[in-house]
Amino acid sequence: MSTELGDLYQEVILDHNRRPRNFGDLPAASRRAEGHNPLCGDRVTVSVVLEGDILKDVRFQGSGCAISKASASMMTESLKGRSRTEAEDLFQAFHRLLTEDGASADPNVLGKLVVFSGVREFPVRVKCATLAWHTLRAALENARDIATTE
Ligand code: ZN
Repeated sequence: MSTELGDLYQEVILDHNRRPRNFGDLPAASRRAEGHNPLCGDRVTVSVVLEGDILKDVRFQGSGCAISKASASMMTESLKGRSRTEAEDLFQAFHRLLTEDGASADPNVLGKLVVFSGVREFPVRVKCATLAWHTLRAALENARDIATTE
């Protein structure tokens, strides 16, 4: 982590790292997937209660760097109650935020996920920030294999 992420943004990320939201098992989960980012050693399990097309509940477990944990925490907050289509759209917007010119990122769509905009400056960290999202996608597709950022 670097102060180059910006003090306010860094504070939000560190807060979610210290006190991750929606952290823990979800016994009622209808979908679950594990993800692994070998570059950093981040591991995450994402559990989803899917009712029809709606993500009624989303939780995660795992261990990893501050960015991977904060990203998983904020992802769960952002996705509860959303449809699968909205979740996919948000993932696309988040991915653009991390990999393309920030001008193409819509803050109205991203909400507080914009705190990850500074990650763009650290390409190796992009995989940390997107691990939970890739894992969520694997869970929704009911993939049996472990998701990887590779
Ligand atoms: Zn990481």
